[in-house]
Amino acid sequence: MSATAENTFDIVILGGGSGGYACALRAAELGLSVALVEKGKLGGTCLHMGCIPTKALLHAAEVADSAREGGQFGVKTTFESVDMSGVNAYKDGVVARLYKGLQGLVKSKNIEFVEGEGHLLAKNVVEVAGRQLVGKNVVLATGSYAKSLPGLDIAGKIMTSDQALFLDHVPPRVVVLGGGVIGVEFASVFKSFGSEVTIIEALPRLVAAEDEAISKQLERSFRKRKINFQTGVKFAGATQSGDVVQVSLESGENIEADLLLVAVGRGPVTAGLGYEEAGVTIDRGFVLANERCQTNVEGIFAVGDIVPGLQLAHRGFAQGIFVAEQIGGLNPPVIDEMGIPRVTYCEPEIASVGYTEAQAREKFGEIETYDYNLGGNGKSQILATQGFIKLVRQKDGPVVGVHMIGARIGEQVGEAQLIYNWEALPSDVAQLIHAHPTQNEALGEAHLALAGKPLHAHG
Ligand SMILES: Cc1cc2nc3c(=O)[nH]c(=O)nc-3n(C[C@H](O)[C@H](O)[C@H](O)COP(=O)(O)OP(=O)(O)OC[C@H]3O[C@@H](n4cnc5c(N)ncnc54)[C@H](O)[C@@H]3O)c2cc1C
Repeated sequence: MSATAENTFDIVILGGGSGGYACALRAAELGLSVALVEKGKLGGTCLHMGCIPTKALLHAAEVADSAREGGQFGVKTTFESVDMSGVNAYKDGVVARLYKGLQGLVKSKNIEFVEGEGHLLAKNVVEVAGRQLVGKNVVLATGSYAKSLPGLDIAGKIMTSDQALFLDHVPPRVVVLGGGVIGVEFASVFKSFGSEVTIIEALPRLVAAEDEAISKQLERSFRKRKINFQTGVKFAGATQSGDVVQVSLESGENIEADLLLVAVGRGPVTAGLGYEEAGVTIDRGFVLANERCQTNVEGIFAVGDIVPGLQLAHRGFAQGIFVAEQIGGLNPPVIDEMGIPRVTYCEPEIASVGYTEAQAREKFGEIETYDYNLGGNGKSQILATQGFIKLVRQKDGPVVGVHMIGARIGEQVGEAQLIYNWEALPSDVAQLIHAHPTQNEALGEAHLALAGKPLHAHG
């Protein structure tokens, strides 16, 4: 085989995170030749620094809460302490098993895994350590990094999720800068582990991308859990002396902490990688791509966190699969970004799909909403959780938004996304039978009520 043939592929993928590896696996299934370039660990942010390790921490947090709250259920338990070396061993074990599985999966397919830092040398060439990989198609999937604020250096006790995932102790006092998904998840973990937590959020509410009613309920629940938060306040600066961080707000208030977690969003990893030189349009660091994940340069696609939109692993998977099928000639249907399910795994959990009430009103004009309180749901009462399921429908039309909050409610997003994506009417769902007593039943009950035949619904 000539050197050129060895280095020529149907697809060269730059970045082996959720978007990149999903594209590689699907392309290989379709019989395409693939090179997958990764400078760090196969699996990317989600597996090593994101979804999986944080959800392991949140599970350990749930166990700590259960130990504290046993008495509520007549079980004599006491919470002693959190041993971070034990928590980390459990978390790292989960990641390691999944990592091994993923490596085996990629190895078992016809995928050339190229370790090293790559950059785009020309529109169809990715260079890695002097080796030039030529792709009939190139997929950019270099992901994202944790941002900070101007003048706020990440060092010592000022950290992002990247460092906070590997703490060897529970900090007594934590300030979380940012009340978005990552901020509230970490705030929830720290509180359950025993820290005193304060969230600082510049926007008027926590989880501001969610329906307003969800933010209100989360704030209520966090108040009950004694998680402090301030919304609509601006961060002014932070200084460190010894092991203590002084966090100052524009209001003049100072908060002393043992850890400042900076959770102000994630920026795209695109600088210095040759994208612009190859002619790819970049906007504020993000790669612009159309609904078929094509950039403005023919043969160059982009997937995952580098493309503006929801920064979620399953969006990356879906886009990666989409691009492989597109290149494979299958002409897949475009992805409806509103139909991508969103889960925030704090306690209580939040899950949603589709339009918020405000967005639906703007888009569709006349709408109807219905809130089903989990107070009427047997399983939620058994779990001693509070919350609700809110439905948004077009007037006399399909359900266009499902918004849920409550312990463990994330698992209900599967049915919610089918309802949204299949454009179900409330009456379509109302005739389906939901098992009793499950939290899933609450979704059924909400649709029964919206279809005009409420069962266990008050008011
Ligand atoms: C704390 C945290 C919690 C999260 N929780 C969730 C969650 O619960 N659910 C969810 O859906 N999402 C979650 N996310 C988001 C999720 O991790 C991302 O949306 C997802 O990883 C994006 O996939 P990606 O392929 O675009 O990028 P990444 O996963 O970031 O992968 C990009 C890969 O490209 C590699 N790379 C970059 N530049 C180069 C180069 N020049 N050469 C070679 N390789 C390169 C990187 O090393 C990396 O492995 C979380 C994120 C964080 C930080």
